[in-house]
Amino acid sequence: MTQSRRHATHEVLNQVPPLVGYDVADDAALLGAVRREGCDWAESELHELGLLAGTAATQEQARLANVSKPVLRTHDSRGYRIDEVDFHPSWHQLMGTAVSHGLHAAPWADGRPGAHVARAAKFLIWTQAEAGHGCPISMTYASVPALRHNQDLAARYEPLLTSVSYDPGLRAPEGKAGLLAGMAMTEKQGGSDVRANTTTAAPAGDGSYLLTGHKWFCSAPMCDLFLVLAQAPEGLTCFLLPRVLPDGSRNAMYIQRLKDKLGNCSNASAEVEYDAAVAWPVGEPGRGVPTIINMVSATRLDCVLGSAAAIRQATVIAASYASLRQAFGTPLIDHPAMTGVTADLTLESEAATTLAIRLAGAADRAARGDAAEAALLRVALPAAKYWICKRTPMITAEALECLGGNGYVEDYSPMPRVLRDSPLNSIWEGSGNVTALDVLRALTRTPDSADALLAEIDLAGGDPRAAAAGASLREVLKEAQGQDGQRQARRLAGQITVTLQACLLARYAPAPISDAFSSSRLGTDGASGSSPGPVTGPGTPFGSLPDGLDLAAILARSVVTAR
Ligand SMILES: Cc1cc2nc3c(=O)[nH]c(=O)nc-3n(C[C@H](O)[C@H](O)[C@H](O)COP(=O)(O)OP(=O)(O)OC[C@H]3O[C@@H](n4cnc5c(N)ncnc54)[C@H](O)[C@@H]3O)c2cc1C
Repeated sequence: MTQSRRHATHEVLNQVPPLVGYDVADDAALLGAVRREGCDWAESELHELGLLAGTAATQEQARLANVSKPVLRTHDSRGYRIDEVDFHPSWHQLMGTAVSHGLHAAPWADGRPGAHVARAAKFLIWTQAEAGHGCPISMTYASVPALRHNQDLAARYEPLLTSVSYDPGLRAPEGKAGLLAGMAMTEKQGGSDVRANTTTAAPAGDGSYLLTGHKWFCSAPMCDLFLVLAQAPEGLTCFLLPRVLPDGSRNAMYIQRLKDKLGNCSNASAEVEYDAAVAWPVGEPGRGVPTIINMVSATRLDCVLGSAAAIRQATVIAASYASLRQAFGTPLIDHPAMTGVTADLTLESEAATTLAIRLAGAADRAARGDAAEAALLRVALPAAKYWICKRTPMITAEALECLGGNGYVEDYSPMPRVLRDSPLNSIWEGSGNVTALDVLRALTRTPDSADALLAEIDLAGGDPRAAAAGASLREVLKEAQGQDGQRQARRLAGQITVTLQACLLARYAPAPISDAFSSSRLGTDGASGSSPGPVTGPGTPFGSLPDGLDLAAILARSVVTAR
């Protein structure tokens, strides 16, 4: 028989194997930060999760969860409304892993100092497996501090929220082995300005309220419990609304449709309506915003962690690919222009991870009553959320380009998925302007926060560039406290973050990293447009590092070899 030659026209050459079989936790910046923040006890758990995140099986789960979109089932076969969302089994596998490793609310039941840091590090690692399912995981984590404003509800539900059992399905919360929580604030007329919410809450006479209205964004609508804002007679109030009532009947929460959205396809984001849905007040009636802000603060930390994860994942994929792919007879990474790009991306990753875990440490100590750490977090968290989340799309787009055309191809690497999802953390839980304005609010309403920030920055005083950046920030903060500087809010948030990052790297990172970061990101303001010509600095495209840096030492932090 004659053999067909149609499939033998050429030999496949110079293709880089998939990056599987590596330990995602093998990240020197992350592990160093985790040790400093007092939870080296978690290191073996981080490696266990890191190895799992790097397997081909997990990457396949992530792929399948994103190609098989969740489907809304409004009615059952007999016409009864059920408002259920069906997910691919891979979604449930990812969720099961996240919950069983305590990435959701588990640290609230863990008295060990550093428990929140361990959870933050795990979240940073496991997000590199798949980002979409992190949404209900984050919201569940963040719901607990808000829920604690109602001791009865916390006593009833916190043990189930912190349980490490994943138990999906439409059943009464009380009978489940573990619960998930979502949040519903945003309405059609506005999400930043939640005081404009129109959903009403009428007292039912038994301590509960009946909510009527809509929410324009309600992600992960298959959660068991939701923290919802609505207008009670006393004013805007935070409520806990279960999807299924304690007697097993469905609450009057109707999923109108799922959003067809940019970003991950694994998670569902819904539009919902309440038609006299039963809910219980959380916190003082009329004080809904101060109550739910406890949840917002925790989810903002996850936005920073999630973005640091995307930056690390994209950088590792780019640098590792460039170390194997040849062009013009030489590995890409050895071409000076590409060495500069991948080293520059590595600096962003080191800085984002180092600051994210420092903030997780502050959150851990603040949760245990440390006022100075709470003050630092109050200003540094919105600043970091603004800056790091906003830079993530630029960083992931640059990393994608390191793979050339292969970067654009869905089944070649997770890079297209990472890029598509990258703007999200900057939008939700306070879009860029709103978060930057929150930095101003922190400085004016919580004067201790500026002191705590400057005290942290002063710790790097031995480094002349960090000291100069700290002095410059001190002057800017003085001016900011005395005026309505809304137009400068973004600039200030950026300066706070970059100064903090430079100071942390000066104290803790290997010299090649901190030298390169300070010399490229401090002192020259590429974002302002006031400096003529091509400049370095945080506003310029990547790959414009100054000469004389130890780029090989920098790249050693992000090139990964599969086992
Ligand atoms: C995928 C996805 C999932 C989401 N999931 C949820 C969810 O589960 N629950 C939920 O409640 N919400 C959710 N949201 C909504 C999200 O939190 C809001 O979109 C966000 O808070 C912004 O609100 P908005 O869309 O109404 O924009 P607007 O408030 O209309 O803001 C539009 C723009 O104006 C800017 N702006 C607003 N106020 C000011 C000001 N004072 N000065 C200067 N600029 C300003 C904002 O920064 C933004 O850029 C989700 C959003 C997305 C994209």
